[in-house]
Amino acid sequence: MKHHDVIIIGAGAAGLMCAATAGYRGRDVLVLDNAKQAGRKILISGGGRCNFTNQKVEPNNFICSNAHFVKSALARYRSSDFIELVERHGIEYHERDHGQLFCDDSAKEIVTMLLTECEWAGVQIKLRTEISEIGQNEQGQFELITDKEHYTCDSLVMATGGLSMPKLGASPYGYHIAKQFGLKLLPTHAGLVPFTWHSEQKLKFEPLSGIAVPSTITAKDGTQFSEALLFTHRGLSGPAILQISNFWKAGETISINLLPGVDARAAIELVLANHSKQSLRNTLSHWLPKRLVEALFDETLLNKAMNQLIHSELEQLAVDLESWEILMNGTEGYRTAEVTLGGVDTDELSSKTMEAKSVSGLYFIGEVMDVSGWLGGFNFQWAWSSGVAAGQAV
Ligand code: FAD
Repeated sequence: MKHHDVIIIGAGAAGLMCAATAGYRGRDVLVLDNAKQAGRKILISGGGRCNFTNQKVEPNNFICSNAHFVKSALARYRSSDFIELVERHGIEYHERDHGQLFCDDSAKEIVTMLLTECEWAGVQIKLRTEISEIGQNEQGQFELITDKEHYTCDSLVMATGGLSMPKLGASPYGYHIAKQFGLKLLPTHAGLVPFTWHSEQKLKFEPLSGIAVPSTITAKDGTQFSEALLFTHRGLSGPAILQISNFWKAGETISINLLPGVDARAAIELVLANHSKQSLRNTLSHWLPKRLVEALFDETLLNKAMNQLIHSELEQLAVDLESWEILMNGTEGYRTAEVTLGGVDTDELSSKTMEAKSVSGLYFIGEVMDVSGWLGGFNFQWAWSSGVAAGQAV
C-alpha cells in the first residue's frame, strides 16, 4: 500500500488544476486516470483552440439547482486569475464575441501549462490506471485498489467529469462513488448539444444543411439567446441552439426569431407602402436565404404580390418570422454534447471547499457535480475555480 496525502481521480481540467494547487501547498499529490493522455477534452475544446475562460464570468452563467453554490469558488478564483496564469506561461490568446478567450495557437498549450504547473508543484500523474474499488479503513483513510497498485490517502478528490463524449473516455464513475458514499445525485441530461429533426421535418429541412442565420431563440422558461442558428443534416445547431439546449426539456417547443432586432410588422408595412407589387418570395429573400424561405412558406403564398395578401396572412407572416415555434425530436445526446447537466447534488457539498458534508475528506470538482456553464468558456472556468477551491482545502 502506498500512501499519499491526496489522490485525485481524473487528469482533466479540474483534476490538474486541483493537483497543482494542492501540490504548491506542500501536499503529496497523486493523480490517477484511466486514459492514455491527460486533458483530452481540453485538447479538442474550442475547435482545438480551447475557449479557456470568459472576460466576464457571473454566477448566472451557470446552471445549478442551488443558484448560490457557485458564487464562493468563482469569487475566490476568477477568470482574471486564470488569464494571469496563461500570460505567465507566455500563451498568446485572443477575444471573440461575448468575451470568449481562445488560444491563438493550440489547446495543447493549456494542457502543457497545467502539466508544467503539476510538475513544478511535485504532483505525480499515473495514466492508464483502472480503479476497481474504493473503500475507507478504520482510520477514515480512503483505500484504492487499482490494476497496478493499492493506495491509501487522506483526501480523495473525484474529478471524473460528466458523461459527454464517451469516445473520449467519459464515464459515470464519479456518480458511482458519490452513490457508494450515500451522496444524492440529480438526474443527468446532455447539455450544449444540437437538436435533431423528426422524420417529416428531416425531409423538409435537410436540404438546408449548412445555412446559418442570425437568430434569437427563446426556451419555454423564457431564457433567450441571440446568436447564429445553423441548419445541419441531423437538425439544428450553432451557438444559439447549443445555449438554449441547456434550458430545454423533452417535449417542449422552442421559439425562433429569424429577424432579430427587426420589427417584422413594421418591415412588412414598409414593403407594402413602397413595393406593394413585389412578390412575397422576393420580399423575404431580402431578409433570409432563399432556400430557407422556400422551406418555410407555401409556394402559392410566396408567389402572391404583397398587396394580394390578406390581413390574417400578413399577421401570420410576422408571427412566423418573429416567433417560429418548432418542436424538435430531441438532442444528439451525450455523443456530441459539450457538457452534462445534473450530477452530484451540490446540497451535499461545501461551496467553499467542494468537500462532501457527510464524508470527511471526499471532494467532488468540475463537471461531475450539478454545475454546468453556458457556452463561452464558463465550463472550464468552473473546472479551474472548483479545482482551486478543493486544492486549497485538501
Ligand atoms: P474532464 O475534463 O472531462 O476530465 C475528466 C477526467 O476523468 C478525464 O481525464 C477522464 O479520462 C477521467 N476519468 C473518467 N472516468 C474515469 C475513471 N473511471 N477512472 C479514471 N479516470 C477517469 N468548455 C469550455 O469552457 N470551453 C470550451 O471551449 C469547451 N469546448 C468543449 C468541446 C467539446 C467537444 C467538449 C466535449 C466539451 C467542451 N467544453 C468546453 C466543456 C469542458 O471540456 C468540460 O466542462 C471540462 O473538461 C470539465 O472538466 P472536468 O475536469 O470536470 O472533466
